[in-house]
Amino acid sequence: MHDSPHRTDKDYAQVLDAADPMSAVRGKFNIPEDTVYMLGNSLGLMPKAAEEAVGRVMGEWREMGIGGWMGGKPPWFYLAERIGEAAALLVGAAPDEVICTGTTTYNIHSLVSTFFRPSGSRKKIIASSLEFPTDIYALKSQLELRGLDRDDDLILIGGDEEGIVNEDEIVGAMSDEVALVWLSSVLFRSGQLLDIARLTAAAHERGIMIGFDCSHSVGAVPHSFDEWDVDFAVWCGYKYLCGGPGAPAFIYLNRNHFDTVPGLSGWFGCDKDRQFDMSLEFDHARSAGGWQVSSPGILGAAAVEGALSVIMDHGIAAVRERSLRLTSYLFYLVDELLSEEPYSFRVVTPREDSSRGGHVAIARGEDALKIKEALVDRGVVTDFRPPDVIRIAPSPLYSTFTDVRSVVGHIREIIGSGEYRDIPDKLGPIS
Ligand SMILES: *Cc1c(COP(=O)(O)O)cnc(C)c1O
Repeated sequence: MHDSPHRTDKDYAQVLDAADPMSAVRGKFNIPEDTVYMLGNSLGLMPKAAEEAVGRVMGEWREMGIGGWMGGKPPWFYLAERIGEAAALLVGAAPDEVICTGTTTYNIHSLVSTFFRPSGSRKKIIASSLEFPTDIYALKSQLELRGLDRDDDLILIGGDEEGIVNEDEIVGAMSDEVALVWLSSVLFRSGQLLDIARLTAAAHERGIMIGFDCSHSVGAVPHSFDEWDVDFAVWCGYKYLCGGPGAPAFIYLNRNHFDTVPGLSGWFGCDKDRQFDMSLEFDHARSAGGWQVSSPGILGAAAVEGALSVIMDHGIAAVRERSLRLTSYLFYLVDELLSEEPYSFRVVTPREDSSRGGHVAIARGEDALKIKEALVDRGVVTDFRPPDVIRIAPSPLYSTFTDVRSVVGHIREIIGSGEYRDIPDKLGPIS
């Protein structure tokens, strides 16, 4: 790394912060005191705009009661659509192709139940064994609901020892027995970013539907769903989008599929002009909104609305650019300061910008969990994923270069002092 423009000293991190054109964004967040927060990929911190938007809706409820459905600003009745329109700009979609609704896993069920159309011997689903488990649980139950085999009819593509999946292998598995491919854009453990355009083209050439879980990429990485012709996608509202714990999630639906009848129907998926006709014939909205089911949780949606405004102020291209600057610096510091004994960490995340999302996974043969816990004791929030990975996710919105330098400095001190040794090797329920 001798040709790196960077230096390892702490003062240099301050130089980077001083030169950072987006440093003011941090001021738009509530940052917990005495904390270095490195979990932008898990639960994003609270934007002040989210707090304000929730306060606004509480006020509307207080003042208007049911009148808020049409009298709120914006009206609650259209809030999910308004948020979808804003989010469409982040993912390269038309305004009516995105809706804020449901939750991630729920939306997977909804879309797979709509678009998984097994017929004859074309009845299998391709996914990756490196997938976030909830996606696999959902796919397996969808197979069982069709009377198919939850194991035999699910083709799981594995990865190498670092958890990197080979896209050639995915394409190679796209046989005429496959009806659907479901993949994550960014793998939750390694941080690998898949080539969505290539995989989509390969699936379509073989007559296969393809959808993506973009929970680990939206808000950190730009997408071009329409240009790539992805069939459908979901992502969650509480990671890089900072919409709050358990925030409502999102659906992208390619307009080519607007006429397909939703697999899971409910009255909020009705054409909005006729929803209150109370007809027993379900006529879904010809938009992603047709895949809504229930009354939207307006308080949760308001937080997402406020949070999105922060990203919209800057544009996803600038956010990605800053994310890459932060994580490139982190790669450099891990190589220079943590790779040799006794530190012995290695970077798991692919190095090329085009193959990585917003977080960096570092691994260590021993004691990674204990070191992660010792970080918590020092006010540094990262997380651990078995067997040996610590995930570090600087938020492109509020993390600083000084934060990045500080995580690496703490890890060196923790290993140098041996303070991690007595920490029990036990994973908590949320870690
Ligand atoms: C975070 C995440 C989820 C979360 O699912 P919920 O239904 O919101 O709990 C699902 N899939 C992936 C790939 C994720 O990263």
